[in-house]
Amino acid sequence: MPEILKLEAVSKIYTLRRGFFARGRPFYALRRVSLSLSEDEVLGILGESGCGKSTLARVALGLERPDEGQVLVAGKDFFSLPKREQRRLRRYVQIVFQDPYASLNPRKKIFDLLAEPLIIHKLCPPEERRARVAEALQQVGLSPEDMEKYPHQFSGGQRQRLALARALILAPKALILDEPTSALDVSVQAQILNLLLEFKERLRLSYLFISHDLPLVLFLSDRVAVMYLGLVVEISPARNFFELSHHPYTEVLLESVPEPDPRRRKKRRAVRGEPPDPSQAFSGCPFYTRCQEALSLCEKESPPLREISPGQWVACHRR
Ligand code: ADP
Ligand code: MG
Repeated sequence: MPEILKLEAVSKIYTLRRGFFARGRPFYALRRVSLSLSEDEVLGILGESGCGKSTLARVALGLERPDEGQVLVAGKDFFSLPKREQRRLRRYVQIVFQDPYASLNPRKKIFDLLAEPLIIHKLCPPEERRARVAEALQQVGLSPEDMEKYPHQFSGGQRQRLALARALILAPKALILDEPTSALDVSVQAQILNLLLEFKERLRLSYLFISHDLPLVLFLSDRVAVMYLGLVVEISPARNFFELSHHPYTEVLLESVPEPDPRRRKKRRAVRGEPPDPSQAFSGCPFYTRCQEALSLCEKESPPLREISPGQWVACHRR
């Protein structure tokens, strides 16, 4: 299947500004991340807060330049292209952010918010803009009259529908969904998820679905990439996830998921130890200090991602 988005050994290094000792030191937010998103696929990105998920989203969108590696959009090396070509490709990958309150400019009318991408990308003659905006609103279950309103007149769930309409109006091939429902109430979450499933089928979209919620990621995704401290430690199919043997970090995540079947319930293991200092270019496995199965090799050598079962890639010396 053709790849819409591909990251090849992408690293993003920030410079710390705060802290007396830390100031000026590099901070590795992404470490040689390689991932690809195919047509018609949902790739879940799973990881705890601070592991680099939003950084990954910004780099994949071409909003931030990686310090190492390449971002390929529709097979083209995005950052080596002229600005005009970059703009053309940006249309293919759109984003919906976590916070629907922060992502819509409160001073702009809905019509202006939704027409803006059409104007930037010169996609629609001025006389057709109102019809396109009306159509986009209806697509997400809102009414064409809503285009005269302002963001504060909508609830959180409705705002997330507006964010979705704004992304879809450009007819993208892929959406990056960065924790799109984690700021919403559970009942509203389900509505947005259903909408996402519906669009995926109807518009044949691909999603990069970012979340810290394992059951949610498994529900939506075809494959799941697990991140820890800026690294991808595992990529596995979602379909038979519970039957597979996983990276020790993934196992810890799995243990925190309630298991309805008592026969399958495992004894919970507490995560001990501190993660390594992300301002250091550590050479071993990032999970070494907290792993119950660690070998001395794990401290010295970073395990590469290896295919340990069909379609399943794990970065662990013990698997
Ligand atoms: P996640 O989305 O998984 O919670 P982020 O990608 O937002 O994680 O952040 C990863 C790490 O990079 C965090 O420790 C965060 O503090 C740091 N970080 C993110 N953006 C910047 C930035 N612009 N400057 C410095 N550090 C940053
Ligand atoms: Mg985030």
